[in-house]
Amino acid sequence: MSLNEILGRARRESRTVLTEIESKQILEAAGIACTETRLARTRAEAVSLSAAFGYPVVLKIASKDITHKSDAGGVKVNLKNADEVEVAYDGIMQSAQRKFPQARIEGISVQCMAKPGIEVIMGMTRDPSFGPVLMFGLGGILVEVLQDVAFGVAPLEEKDAAEMIAEIKGKKLLEGYRGQDTVDKSCLESMLLRLSAFVDGRPEIAEIDMNPVFARSDGAIVVDARIILTQPTQPVQP
Ligand code: ADP
Ligand code: MG
Repeated sequence: MSLNEILGRARRESRTVLTEIESKQILEAAGIACTETRLARTRAEAVSLSAAFGYPVVLKIASKDITHKSDAGGVKVNLKNADEVEVAYDGIMQSAQRKFPQARIEGISVQCMAKPGIEVIMGMTRDPSFGPVLMFGLGGILVEVLQDVAFGVAPLEEKDAAEMIAEIKGKKLLEGYRGQDTVDKSCLESMLLRLSAFVDGRPEIAEIDMNPVFARSDGAIVVDARIILTQPTQPVQP
């Protein structure tokens, strides 16, 4: 589906939060690499999608009412065969229904397990005076506890993207700290620039959260994404 089709559907459903699948489709179309993610509505469909992608795979709860999937017991990674997929499918369903009994569940999304990398985050928020602001930081606990993030006002130029990456305190982790792979920073820079180009002139996008992005020596890929739309100013068309 195109951006306009996805936006149109969300508006008709009076939603401002796009699903992981919708968000990744939009980002892919903007030239940002994401793990291809497809919806399974049954356990059998999850198994056949997994076989088509190739193992190992990741299963996640797909519900328009659940945005923090891990909190719902809704993410199972590194599933290596059909049996593991079936067990994970049932486990995710049960735990999501137990923790969020009111949630409408569309199914379970299936995607390939991304090759491990350094987890970073990228995103966009809107500032009332500056407009779209891009964000870059290290993923996981480092962001939450240390708030080690850098910001840049859109539209970014190449040097701005490079500066944002150079600004974070934990940047050594991107430079092969203690025998880890060095991250290809130019890939992260171009991802930031594409994100900036995408949000520029699109006031209907309120917020983008790419968390995490796996950064490696051979590229970078988004494994989870969420896009939030601005509240519509026009009445919703039937
Ligand atoms: P949440 O909605 O809780 O943020 P995520 O989709 O971010 O759920 O998944 C939780 C964690 O699982 C991620 O931070 C990442 O470490 C891991 N993960 C998710 N998708 C993948 C994937 N395709 N490949 C490898 N690891 C993944
Ligand atoms: Mg996430």
